[in-house]
Amino acid sequence: MSLPTFVEPVNFKLPNAAPGSLDVQWIHGSVSPKHNTDPDIQIHFYNEHTVIMRQNMAVHPEAPFMFLLFGNDRAVLLDTGATRSPDFFPLRPTVDGLIDQWLAKYPRDNYSLVVAHTHLHRDHFEADPQFFDRPNTVIVGKTLEATVQFYGFQHWPQDKVSFDLGGRVLKVMATPGHEEAEVSIYDPYTHLLFTGDLVYPGRLYIRDWEAFASSIERMIDFCNTHPISHILGCHIEMSIYPKLDYLIRTSYQPYERPLQMTVAQLQSIGEAIKAIDDKPGIHIFDDYIIYNGVPDRYFSYETMNPDAELGDVC
Ligand SMILES: [Zn+2]
Repeated sequence: MSLPTFVEPVNFKLPNAAPGSLDVQWIHGSVSPKHNTDPDIQIHFYNEHTVIMRQNMAVHPEAPFMFLLFGNDRAVLLDTGATRSPDFFPLRPTVDGLIDQWLAKYPRDNYSLVVAHTHLHRDHFEADPQFFDRPNTVIVGKTLEATVQFYGFQHWPQDKVSFDLGGRVLKVMATPGHEEAEVSIYDPYTHLLFTGDLVYPGRLYIRDWEAFASSIERMIDFCNTHPISHILGCHIEMSIYPKLDYLIRTSYQPYERPLQMTVAQLQSIGEAIKAIDDKPGIHIFDDYIIYNGVPDRYFSYETMNPDAELGDVC
């Protein structure tokens, strides 16, 4: 008979933001994808309870970021990347290894995993099947209804709902505009704000202007009333040079700018929205580029066909 493990809970309720590091050089592809020597998945510990991962750009040009947050009762994986095959993209063993490593230091029984998505585009959920047979695992369904139901939204997209990992109570906010089921997630432990593909240093593809404008307004309001350490989206598509993005579907991005963005940059998106006033086109700003009403065929293998062979863009 095994005795239950005595668990000293981790205190995730601190008076200030838990320290974390973004002192990292992200893998960013290579001149020749064939000769790329980067790991399939880069792992960076923001702190010991918060992991940021990036997919290798030679495996998929979207090179999305994924996040693993640990709480006392369960961990959440935000997004599963752009590639289904575990041979090319071993996300499941990577995440299992990280959880084992965490549990070795913070042992507890029946620790579970929630596999969630910032939004429902293929470069953010493609490796879900790697988790289908994982014990103690819940995968959030891939429809707007399933998203609303899982988090318990009563008044989508206005309300903010709590998502408790065990002492680490995330705030989930509906932020449609790029995609109808998109959520942004605030972590009161690190003060990090995860914004999916709504806000990141790159091409912001808007599919519903009104929804996008209200989502950004709600996020700005939220940032005015909550301390924010960094805003973290899911891609980098711009260089350190203002206004300069990389070629779409490139597999090499030298001189990338950092992933993290500031509240001031988010506020500037609010100003940009007023200036653009729903005019269709490609609107270039220093730190992001707004694609409004640009037909998808100009920039992507699209998302709307779920049977497409290739992973979609953003
Ligand atoms: Zn994306």
